[in-house]
Order: sequence, then C-alpha cells, then structure tokens
Amino acid sequence: MKIRLAGELTKESIVDGEGIRTVIWTQGCRHNCPSCHNPSTHDFDGGFLRDVEDLCEEIKNISFQDGITLSGGDPLEQIDACLEIAKFCHSIDLNVWCYTGYTMEALLKRCEKEENLRELLENIDVLVDSPFILELKSYNVPFRGSSNQRIIDSKKSIKENKVCEVLKYKN
Ligand code: SF4
Repeated sequence: MKIRLAGELTKESIVDGEGIRTVIWTQGCRHNCPSCHNPSTHDFDGGFLRDVEDLCEEIKNISFQDGITLSGGDPLEQIDACLEIAKFCHSIDLNVWCYTGYTMEALLKRCEKEENLRELLENIDVLVDSPFILELKSYNVPFRGSSNQRIIDSKKSIKENKVCEVLKYKN
C-alpha cells in the first residue's frame, strides 16, 4: 500500500503531542482554513508517494520516540494507509496521535457507514479535531493552533459514541 506524503518524517518533535514524537506529514487537505501553516500540503496530487511498509520500517528504526503523530494535510483523507501505520505502531508499543480538520461529531456520524474509518479511530489514541480558526488562534492551548480544537480520547469516543475530550486538556 502507498501513502501520499508532504515531506520526510520529523523526528524528536515535542510540539505535536505528548512526549517525543515522530511526525508523519500526509499530503492532501480539503478544509482550506484561512492562514493555514501548511498550504503546500493541500493538493491531493502534490507531495510524493511512499510505500507504507518502508515507512513503518523507518519508524521502527528510530531510537528516541514515545509515539507517532499523523499530521498534514489531513491524515483522514488516507484512511487505509493510516490504519496500517497506526496498527504497526501499536504493535511496537508506540502511541498514536492524529490531527484532523474534521470535527469528531462529523466523524462519529460517518462511522455509522464507514467501517474503515471506525477502525482507524479505534486505533488512534488521541485525536486533535476541528479546523484551525484564525479568530480563535491561541498560544494557551497546548498542541493546538486555535481554541475550538479539542484533544480527544478517540477510542473512548467511538465506544461511547460521543465526544470524549482528554480531561486535562479540556478548555
Ligand atoms: S486542516 Fe490543517 S492542513 Fe488542512 S487547511 Fe486546516 S490547518 Fe491547513
């Protein structure tokens, strides 16, 4: 399986989730948030294709990491590839964070019909949801760009079919 990426892995990030993280920059986003930091990641034909198995092998060989972060772009535009990566990372004891411009409410609704999306959200530990809103830009919300974005316990939200925020990060 292939995944379309916007760039190489970022290693040892401390700003894309808790702990030391390896960040995967997916290519392709349809949210068009004004003042997006990564406009070059929007084009669904941009970036480059990478073999998921190769990518997992590269991740496995990184020395210092607590987990991986799926970012972009919007990773949820490439559900099957991200699911394979998330499952692999859990198999080697790495936790998985994921950023998306979709709201959890919209994703829960889609899960009624999209089994692969449900499975991916069950394999994500922490989901940072919602588009970036310039008027709500804040430096006081850890790991987010604007105060409307939420840090969500993805598995629990799927299990309980409602948005379950991680309490310590709730605004
Ligand atoms: S969801 Fe993220 S990558 Fe997509 S437009 Fe919004 S800020 Fe940019």
